Amino acid sequence: MRKPQIAILALQGAFIEHSRMFSRLGADVFEIRQFADLEHQCDALILPGGESTAQGKLLKELELFEPLKQRIISGLPVMATCAGIILLAEKLCDDDTVHFGTLPVTVRRNAYGRQLGSFYTEGNFGDIPNVTMPFIRAPQIAGYGENVSVLSSHNGVPTAVCFENQLAMTFHPEITEHTDIHEYFLKNIVIPYYSV
Ligand code: GLN
Repeated sequence: MRKPQIAILALQGAFIEHSRMFSRLGADVFEIRQFADLEHQCDALILPGGESTAQGKLLKELELFEPLKQRIISGLPVMATCAGIILLAEKLCDDDTVHFGTLPVTVRRNAYGRQLGSFYTEGNFGDIPNVTMPFIRAPQIAGYGENVSVLSSHNGVPTAVCFENQLAMTFHPEITEHTDIHEYFLKNIVIPYYSV
């Protein structure tokens, strides 16, 4: 079987860390920085953490926004971390901005406030125990649609969700030493998609 080709949106934020994770897992990784990069064979898209406003603006300026949105709607596997879930969210609290709007969740940006901007927790992610979850100026999932499954929570608030081809979380697994969540994405979402 050929190797999955993983596209990392590399406009801004923590994209290199995702590349390292997928390379460690034996996938082929390439970066999306401009329109021409869309010609590359692509089995999955990674939306990294960073600043969602800047990412949303760059996506439009570089004319990447519509083609990527169409691919997500068509079923391309997507993994989004932190700012990435803001890009996917159907709705943002107290904000009319919608980026891709493909994930039926409502997200509140910078929900943990300035004081508790960054922290670590450990918890279950689906059936994977003891996953380290770093939160950095993280958003919160304030609501979600009925076909969304919650894979992890912190103090009763969902921190990772899955909906069809979209896996999204409010924390940053890519800055830990553990590849479990990236592996989960490959096994459960990418491989079923590209091996049919
Ligand atoms: N607070 C950022 C935003 O609203 C997200 C932070 C992150 O990705 N670490 O875009």
